[in-house]
Amino acid sequence: MTDVLSRTPPAQAVEPERGGALDDAACAVCEFVRASVDRSIFFIAVEGISEDWFRLQMRKGGFCLRHARRLALEGSFRLTEPYRHVIGGWQDRAEAPGKMDLSVGGGCPVCATESRAEAHAFGLLARGDLAGARVTPGRTLPICLDHLVLLLDRAAWSQVAEVAGSIGGRVRLAMLASAEVEGPSEILCGLDPNGAARRAGASHANARDAHPTEPLGFDASITPDAVYRELEDGRCPVCSAVRTASLGYIGWLGRPAYEPRGDRDLDAVCREHLFDAGQRATAAAARGVAASIERWRLMADLLADGSAPPPTRLTGRLRRAVDIFRRDRAARRRQFLPIRSAWATVRYLLDPGAPVIERRHQAHVQRDRACVGCTAMITAARRTLDLLGALLVGRAGVDRFERTDGICLRHLAAGRSRIELQSHAVALRVAAARAARIGWELDEEARKLNWSVRYEPHGPEETAWMRALRFVLGDDVLAADFLATEPDVARLAA
Ligand SMILES: [Zn+2]
Ligand SMILES: [Zn+2]
Ligand SMILES: [Zn+2]
Ligand SMILES: [Zn+2]
Repeated sequence: MTDVLSRTPPAQAVEPERGGALDDAACAVCEFVRASVDRSIFFIAVEGISEDWFRLQMRKGGFCLRHARRLALEGSFRLTEPYRHVIGGWQDRAEAPGKMDLSVGGGCPVCATESRAEAHAFGLLARGDLAGARVTPGRTLPICLDHLVLLLDRAAWSQVAEVAGSIGGRVRLAMLASAEVEGPSEILCGLDPNGAARRAGASHANARDAHPTEPLGFDASITPDAVYRELEDGRCPVCSAVRTASLGYIGWLGRPAYEPRGDRDLDAVCREHLFDAGQRATAAAARGVAASIERWRLMADLLADGSAPPPTRLTGRLRRAVDIFRRDRAARRRQFLPIRSAWATVRYLLDPGAPVIERRHQAHVQRDRACVGCTAMITAARRTLDLLGALLVGRAGVDRFERTDGICLRHLAAGRSRIELQSHAVALRVAAARAARIGWELDEEARKLNWSVRYEPHGPEETAWMRALRFVLGDDVLAADFLATEPDVARLAA
């Protein structure tokens, strides 16, 4: 028990066959989560919409961008009712004296389902119940590397070696797939988180024609002219800048002049960006996958053959324990791991499992990289908000801004910590006016849906919910091609 990893079985002599690689690609945990999310969306569509808990979630900020997009494209689902509550809730919170709360997208019920389903799947997995999948040494589990690494952090110590073995097997599978088939992304990180929205034939696609989401005003640089152009064309300039930055990075990664060695520092791509690239920019995807496999290979090696032993002196060990605690805490914030790292830190200090913890820690550190695409998006949003703040200092800038529809509510909330109070108040005033207009339209649509006024012709209010979606979450909510969403903190590379 002092060092279970040293008992890791040697690498399998026989490589898994190619056919087997493809059959095993679907991750059991991802599948379980997907099925739960599908059920949850079906439930919301059928009856949840009229329930109190749902109304409350909507008033707290409603769906996140990723799930709102999926619902918008699902076809059978008009979001008039939910977005009446989202807008109404925002208006109330924005006007609350003393504790103005402008956040949107934080009360996503589908995200809640997603994380609950994932936790439940891990519980089932630990008991060996999940679709017959069992943590068995020497067998390559149908679990993606993303989920295996979560399992590594949650598994009992006696199972760490087995999970480490599975990671090694999966990495070999990915290497095999990358040599022979396109895009081993599913082996690495499971199902495409935007897969449902990407499915062809989504019937609200006409919404995209009505509201072009392609950024037109931004070429590559963030400039005052580009900001005004976007505003005057009815788009949120922050959304446009974010999208331009994301596409710019993917384009750069896939460029022919790429030098694999020189650019190692900029080849880290998260799951969302990897699947986007896989669909639309295969050269970039190939580079992202190759880099990902390389990081996983290093991690698997470290897990298998060990690393430097933990320091023997108590002071050195204390310092390491703090390092490990910090990394675990950061990982937990990003991936909602259970709180057990404090306990791991104590055990590290007291010794019995120090080598295991040390090795697990070093393996993680080896592959913990922030996605460069996500970082580009976050930076672009900040720089554009800062510029907007600067433009809103003078009277001329304010006048010009006030003649437009302003920025989306998501970026208005983000701007609160970056833009000077007076300038932000201008953006807030413009948003409040837009909220009032869209709120009226949504009410009108809800009224006309009433059977008792069926003689009234329908008008433009029928598509008010699409305008509401763009207003609340930004222009990307109706995007059709590159779907990676802008995170608060850069996602980990795949
Ligand atoms: Zn998975
Ligand atoms: Zn969500
Ligand atoms: Zn925006
Ligand atoms: Zn990313």
